[in-house]
Amino acid sequence: MNATKSRTEFEPILPGSTIGVLGSGQLGRMFAIAARRLGYRVHTFSPDSDTPTGQVADREVTAAYDDLDAVREFASQVAVVTFEFENVPAATAEAAGALAPVRPSGQVLHITQHRLREKTFLSQSGFPVTPFRRVTSLHELQAALGEFGVPAILKTAGWGYDGKGQIRINHVEESAAAWARLATNEAVLEAFVDFEAEASVVAVRGRGGECVSFPMIENSHSHHILDLSVCPARVPQAVQQAGEAMARQVLEALDVVGVLCIEYFVGRDGNLLINELAPRPHNSGHLTIDACLSCQFEQQVRSICGLPLGSVEQVRPAAMANLLGDLWFPRSPNWVAACRDPRVKLHLYGKAEARPGRKMGHLTALADTVEAAVAQAQAARQRMLE
Ligand code: AMP
Repeated sequence: MNATKSRTEFEPILPGSTIGVLGSGQLGRMFAIAARRLGYRVHTFSPDSDTPTGQVADREVTAAYDDLDAVREFASQVAVVTFEFENVPAATAEAAGALAPVRPSGQVLHITQHRLREKTFLSQSGFPVTPFRRVTSLHELQAALGEFGVPAILKTAGWGYDGKGQIRINHVEESAAAWARLATNEAVLEAFVDFEAEASVVAVRGRGGECVSFPMIENSHSHHILDLSVCPARVPQAVQQAGEAMARQVLEALDVVGVLCIEYFVGRDGNLLINELAPRPHNSGHLTIDACLSCQFEQQVRSICGLPLGSVEQVRPAAMANLLGDLWFPRSPNWVAACRDPRVKLHLYGKAEARPGRKMGHLTALADTVEAAVAQAQAARQRMLE
């Protein structure tokens, strides 16, 4: 019995099989496109319909994440379940896991969907993280501010992304208002990091523990939302190598099967601090679609299905510019102008409604240097407003 189980556990899930995705946004969409290219079928599950993932999937299931009967029915029809969004409740992953393997596991999801658990896990495992304190009251917040000084960043312990649920405290007198505004009983206070750059590494780990990482990506944010990514990152080679090695160690420590992205702060001394983990492909890794032999989404398919991992080799320097809903106002973007440069690739996520700050698509430019790629991507984005 056990021998049969372990044999099936390690048998690859072959093209032609069906993969289930929890979540239905753009990450699921790009995953589904990669999976279909490899000959898989894709089902997606989320509370919404006509979603970015649903539009390209074989089947779109619309149900609440806590509708566990619907989750079980969904999982019973697929060979493996993955997710494109880590704020899926732990009970959902558990219910799915009773019927199909969930990769990465519910345990990885549990740790990474909660900032405090994630930071505690990382620091206890010996990884460098931004100095932080758990705070559960205004009194604790003030004590932590006394330790770190200002500015400092107050963040909700769970359910945060793109700067949501975080407040920068510039003066100690702002603490009461910040605590009231966050409206939570558990938060994290982080020391403010005066970084040289922000960077990320997307890494992949297969079922046998084999691991590869894409070259380090350099990121810049606007209003806490990723604006521009370039690869390779313009940081010393030793920093790139350290970040890539650390990423692989984190995947091992978490026993991830799948893709994980680590966001780093690169200190002025060249030291790295981990800001955040995402147990899935990441916005900063979208440039791997056009710039690398096997993109982050194809790697997700390969790893969760137990196929050999693909090459992470980068073919040319690349830059990616996000397209937020702001560009849709006061009138729809000029797509013809955006596409005028033949070296710039347009990716749109099929979202019906544009809202300020909403990620609607991205542009990727490939060039001889990252500087030239940045100039091309930014120029194309600017032309959208013509
Ligand atoms: P997060 O949602 O935690 O990734 O934060 C979004 C962005 O806010 C980061 O990419 C940084 O630009 C900024 N940020 C977050 N935490 C800190 C910190 N402790 N020190 C300085 N900047 C931060």
